[in-house]
Amino acid sequence: MSARGDELAAGLDRVRERLAGACRDAGRDPAGVALTVVTKFFPASDVRLLAGLGVTEVAENRHQEAQAKREELLDLGLRWHFVGGLQSNKAAALASWADVVQSVDRAKLVAPLARGAEREGREIDVLVQVSLDPPGADQRAGAGPEDLPALADAVEAAEGLRLRGLMAVAPNDGDPARAFDLLTGLHARLREQHPRAEELSAGMSGDLEAAVMAGATRVRVGSAILGSRPSVA
Ligand SMILES: *Cc1c(COP(=O)(O)O)cnc(C)c1O
Repeated sequence: MSARGDELAAGLDRVRERLAGACRDAGRDPAGVALTVVTKFFPASDVRLLAGLGVTEVAENRHQEAQAKREELLDLGLRWHFVGGLQSNKAAALASWADVVQSVDRAKLVAPLARGAEREGREIDVLVQVSLDPPGADQRAGAGPEDLPALADAVEAAEGLRLRGLMAVAPNDGDPARAFDLLTGLHARLREQHPRAEELSAGMSGDLEAAVMAGATRVRVGSAILGSRPSVA
């Protein structure tokens, strides 16, 4: 295998070991925690190498980049996730490639996304992104906890969209375990109304252990596998 292939294999091994260790510590079955590899900013050739190493789900955060990579890698049959910030006038376009949209954080996105799904003749799995930042924080990505019930209902009601659960990013400062505890509580409440919303997407390179401890069913890991990203464009 190429030098890059060796690097990715080593990164993937380390992350799989961390996940196994975290599941042991939490008394959880590793089969209950899915790995999404965040491949944003990295070339399609890396995604192909990862697929050869058994990766089946990848995430991207820019529409055009993701669309181009997926087009080039159609033969791999990967499941493509979108985890980026979303403008309502771009939401419909995601349906051309995204199998899962993890970052639906306001009701305005629901109708265009559903329209896109209908146009493409497919169903899109949706996770609602919730903010774990204190109210009023700058750069708050994600719905406020108070807005979750209405947003979840809107997704559930939309033709072509399937509400599958919640996604969150722990705030930069502060204890991820505390943030994820809040998230676990919100997820439990959501599932009382929407029992099929089973997924809890939380945990990245720096905090996947805390997320597994809090009950994450899916982690999203980039740099711990692929290395540090080229500077943000
Ligand atoms: C980039 C990104 C990740 C991966 O972050 P790493 O720290 O590189 O593992 C996970 N989730 C979201 C929403 C991201 O944008």
